[in-house]
Amino acid sequence: MALTLPAHSDPLAARLHESGLLRELAHGLGGPFHYLLPHRFDANLAAFRAALAEAGVEGRVYYAKKANKAGVFTERCAALGAGVDVASLGELRDALGHGVRGEDLVVTGPAKTTELLRVAAQQGALIAVDALDELDRVLTLCQARRPRVLLRVHPRSQPGSRFGLGGEDLSEAIHGCAEAGDEVRMEGFSFHLSGYTPQPRTDLAGDLVDLCLKARARGLQADRISIGGGFAVDYVPAGPWQIFLDGQSPGDYHAGKTFTKNDFYPYHSPVAGAHALAAVLAGRPSGQGEHLAARLRQAGVMLLLEPGRALLDRAGSSVFTVQGVKDRDGYSIVTVDGTSLSLSEQWFNSEYLPDPQLLPARPRPFAPEPHRACIGGASCLDSDLLTWRKIAFPVRPHEGDLLVYPNTAGYQMDSNESPFHELSLPPKVVIDYPDDDTRPRWRLDR
Ligand SMILES: *Cc1c(COP(=O)(O)O)cnc(C)c1O
Repeated sequence: MALTLPAHSDPLAARLHESGLLRELAHGLGGPFHYLLPHRFDANLAAFRAALAEAGVEGRVYYAKKANKAGVFTERCAALGAGVDVASLGELRDALGHGVRGEDLVVTGPAKTTELLRVAAQQGALIAVDALDELDRVLTLCQARRPRVLLRVHPRSQPGSRFGLGGEDLSEAIHGCAEAGDEVRMEGFSFHLSGYTPQPRTDLAGDLVDLCLKARARGLQADRISIGGGFAVDYVPAGPWQIFLDGQSPGDYHAGKTFTKNDFYPYHSPVAGAHALAAVLAGRPSGQGEHLAARLRQAGVMLLLEPGRALLDRAGSSVFTVQGVKDRDGYSIVTVDGTSLSLSEQWFNSEYLPDPQLLPARPRPFAPEPHRACIGGASCLDSDLLTWRKIAFPVRPHEGDLLVYPNTAGYQMDSNESPFHELSLPPKVVIDYPDDDTRPRWRLDR
């Protein structure tokens, strides 16, 4: 039996797919493209803010913009007063250029360049300091503007992480800030964990609240902590996901390809997005005492968070046109007009698993049995597959059909795209529904 992993149903996307607009865009743009739904970004941001309000916690959301290069999401941040998490001078410039105020930026990333630190301080951005030498450079370079800093803490639960200040270094950094007096505004501490479980975030946040209290005793401001990102996205329902994990085998993939199960993103998450934030706040740090929300309130500590993927949940999809189909024993190889560079997961020994949806160019009767096919890119690389898995399609794909990969805005679209083979980069099309029930309106991003 073919394993299927359909994305959660999405009425807005279904309406767009039925409108015929994607076909016109594929024709007009002459290649693959991504569509973006900024309305969804707004709703996801509102949900995070509501989770903070419901827990009675003062907090701020910073969109981690590395998850998607589109301008429209940064514009939404500026319009809605959200912050942006940037990690390079390019990202910082882009955020400012879309109207985000310098003081609403947090600058993360390791060993930030001197130029980035200077502009960040000049703009009044919050700088998450990752190392002692970086702190030295902040203190010597930026005196004129009294830089705002957080100290990024090395997570004890992830000893292999290359990020953050641990042990002695952390004490030395706190000492350094205290010594620097009025030359720096030490606003608190930060972390970013890999993985998606709430409890380790609750635990470390509890430690950071304690660190704030200790730092205040040394005369530092220390009134906020950032818990980074890593709020899961729930792509597919629980049932098919479990059946897939239990049942997948090399026979489900082109060329008998194997993947390590643990390398798959957890495409189903029972607690995701703003609910994951609520869970972090409702948890008890190290399993003891008051829950995190109460600890933050009592200590007068503000909570900053930097979601990337979760703010982009269902805020965009990627559209390819089928260029050709050929048969192998028992399945087909579909070739589309783009490459796996537009689906970044393929570059991490993994696979983007939510099923792409086939939009046939002309209606065709459903086959009695699903037609299985893997999806190849329009390149000369044998390993350029958008999907190794033999997807079960209701009809045999055909040249000219559209193939829509759902929910790709978070990290899939553009982190690895390049004009390989002189193929042009897929443009991004922003879709709005001006009045609720009218036709979709589109424009190119930027
Ligand atoms: C990547 C990153 C994020 C965003 O992570 P998501 O998993 O997309 O939520 C937030 N903060 C830092 C420091 C990061 O490096």
